[in-house]
Amino acid sequence: MTARIIDGVALSRALRAEIGERAGALAERGRRPGLAVLLVGDDPASAVYVRNKVRACAEHGLHSVLETHPATLAESALLDRVAALNADPAIHGILVQMPLPRHIDPAKVIAAIDPRKDVDGFSVASAGELMTGLPGLRPCTPWGCIKLIESTGVPIRGRHAVVIGRSNTVGKPMALLLLQAHATVTVCHSATADLAHHTRQADIVVVAVGRRHTVRADMVRPGATVIDVGINRDESGRLCGDVDFEPVRAALGPDGAITPVPGGVGPMTITMLLANTVQAAEAAP
Ligand code: NAP
Repeated sequence: MTARIIDGVALSRALRAEIGERAGALAERGRRPGLAVLLVGDDPASAVYVRNKVRACAEHGLHSVLETHPATLAESALLDRVAALNADPAIHGILVQMPLPRHIDPAKVIAAIDPRKDVDGFSVASAGELMTGLPGLRPCTPWGCIKLIESTGVPIRGRHAVVIGRSNTVGKPMALLLLQAHATVTVCHSATADLAHHTRQADIVVVAVGRRHTVRADMVRPGATVIDVGINRDESGRLCGDVDFEPVRAALGPDGAITPVPGGVGPMTITMLLANTVQAAEAAP
């Protein structure tokens, strides 16, 4: 028997229904949650991402504004737009789609977002809240991974979690969220000497590298939960993750659980963006 699949589409659907209800309750009180999405330049992948975010808002009763700007937009002009949205009471979340054109410093732009509206959870303020265990807006992808792990019913508390990847947007916040949920956490990266040595001891593996077959069947132990954040293409152009899916699924056995790509972490990222926007609207003064 192979491991069960953790269905991110089904979990997203259930969570989005709850989010829609919370958005509806806020709208009845005259505070419809609002998300502003800023896109600078004409990167086709970014255009798809922002369209999906705006569509998800519309489907769940959130107000959204999509601002598209040419790649030549000056950094100061983008900062002015962020300042205007910070002051706009109809907007509770601000998302600046990355990557930005080279002449714009992303750190400066993220720092300009009011922390209460930082629904991506990428700012130093949000990172500090996570680091110190204060309430706040959590980065969407790792926060979605926590929901996926929780959905298996296996407690995180007391388990050994191995996170592969240490980016500021996925790996590091993932490790902190798991720590906050009382896991014992190991963080691996490109300089880790023997990755398999660590993953073989893990009850939970979260892999966020961006390289196919980073996790293979001989690297997991039966009964573990594997969360695959990676987005790659195989030789025939199909989407795939960082996990060698079918062999790993077989190696995990009937007590294991695994997310597919597509249909695992991906849908949860937008779901948690909606959740953060509603949370920001609920907390707004
Ligand atoms: P990133 O910034 O490139 O970070 C990749 C991490 O992987 C780095 O920490 C790197 O280590 C580590 N790494 C590279 N090679 C490794 C190896 N051989 N063994 C162990 N660790 C290794 O990427 P990211 O932004 O975190 O994203 C990771 C993947 O997740 C990408 O495929 C991205 O597309 C995907 N992603 C998906 C979603 C979603 O919604 N599904 C959201 C965000 C990202 P060093 O720090 O030592 O360089």
